[in-house]
Amino acid sequence: MQDKSFLNWPFFDDRHRAIAQGIESWCAANLPVDEADLDKACRDLVQKLGRDGWLKHTAPDHEAAAPLDVRTLCLIRETLARHDALADFAFAMQGLGAGPISLFGNAAQRQWLARTRSGTAIAAFALTEQRSGSDVANIAMTAGRDGDSYILDGEKTWISNGGIANLYVVFARTGEAPGARGISAFIVPGGAPGFSVAERLDVMSPHPLARIAFDGVRVPANAMIGAPGEGFKIAMATLDVFRATVAAAALGFARRALQETLKRARSRRLFDGTLADLQLVQGAIAEMALDIDATALLVYRAAWAKDSGAPRVTREASMAKLFATERAQRVIDKAVQLHGGDGVRRGHIVERLYRDIRALRIYEGASEVQKVVIARQILAGG
Ligand SMILES: Cc1cc2nc3c(=O)[nH]c(=O)nc-3n(C[C@H](O)[C@H](O)[C@H](O)COP(=O)(O)OP(=O)(O)OC[C@H]3O[C@@H](n4cnc5c(N)ncnc54)[C@H](O)[C@@H]3O)c2cc1C
Repeated sequence: MQDKSFLNWPFFDDRHRAIAQGIESWCAANLPVDEADLDKACRDLVQKLGRDGWLKHTAPDHEAAAPLDVRTLCLIRETLARHDALADFAFAMQGLGAGPISLFGNAAQRQWLARTRSGTAIAAFALTEQRSGSDVANIAMTAGRDGDSYILDGEKTWISNGGIANLYVVFARTGEAPGARGISAFIVPGGAPGFSVAERLDVMSPHPLARIAFDGVRVPANAMIGAPGEGFKIAMATLDVFRATVAAAALGFARRALQETLKRARSRRLFDGTLADLQLVQGAIAEMALDIDATALLVYRAAWAKDSGAPRVTREASMAKLFATERAQRVIDKAVQLHGGDGVRRGHIVERLYRDIRALRIYEGASEVQKVVIARQILAGG
């Protein structure tokens, strides 16, 4: 039985409790999906999440000014991740991919949100390049002005939904200034002439991922989100919002690991008793529960702060992401340990969680980067 007592914390309203219950029922009815064909599985997940109204939480209504509710995003991600990493991925990328449009797009650009919210367009966020992952301000891809158009040239890598997305938000150098102030954000449709998938990338927790190439891709000047040179700011503000949701996904993985461990500890018989009778095992369980509750407090503090009107939650979101992903790895490692041989058996749920959590400590800012961000905020008096 999943512990839901955290839903009574003051961070939440009744509507959040209703959403938590609704997504739990949805997961029970719809997950897991057949992942034999990964691309198809993701398309199906996006379609179903859209059909049943969940994706409307990933972006505001294109005609309404209502902001994103980060607590809702976190509750949904936490629950999806507890059931199925791929479902969480499919949901999350609709939010991150459409995020720059949700936060900074004009009325015409926001038309895309009707499609990402209904699941009829799959979204991707294309920032990383081969030579600039953590060092984001160093991107080399260019967007040159040509009359009423921009021409995009270069490559992006590690792009989630690369190859299946209908909509890419692409960050490219427009040259207003060196470094971070010379980058702009563009909307590029998946089938644009000159766009191609250079390589599909296979990772330990599989999801659609690719290196994508732009060879003279022409987009109208009004495909630019925000003003020239604002791309870095747009990327960082988007990550600010969605970083707490990565932490929520890690929390979901950790909760599942504890849930599986409790089941195992109560049922596994050894030394004339159960695993749960052993005090060292109880100690491990206590540490897992503590890591989970502390994580949840940080995740929902960051989400609540954003929803309460804080313009930026850089410190809170970085703390949540760093703590949640590192501690979830630790919780899951304990779960693997307490499952004995079964814990490392391919296909076992804790073996899968062990692989699912790993990349979260690297993407959307590696743990070391989060530490730098937090320290800068603290040193600046934030
Ligand atoms: C599964 C997956 C999905 C992804 N999806 C997307 C996506 O949809 N869109 C997108 O744009 N990108 C995506 N990425 C890219 C991701 O954001 C980058 O991998 C990440 O930013 C790290 O960049 P890098 O891989 O180039 O590593 P590097 O920048 O080379 O860093 C390597 C390591 O160096 C250490 N390090 C980095 N900076 C510092 C520092 N300041 N101090 C100390 N140590 C440091 C960290 O341990 C880091 O992991 C994805 C990556 C993965 C693995």
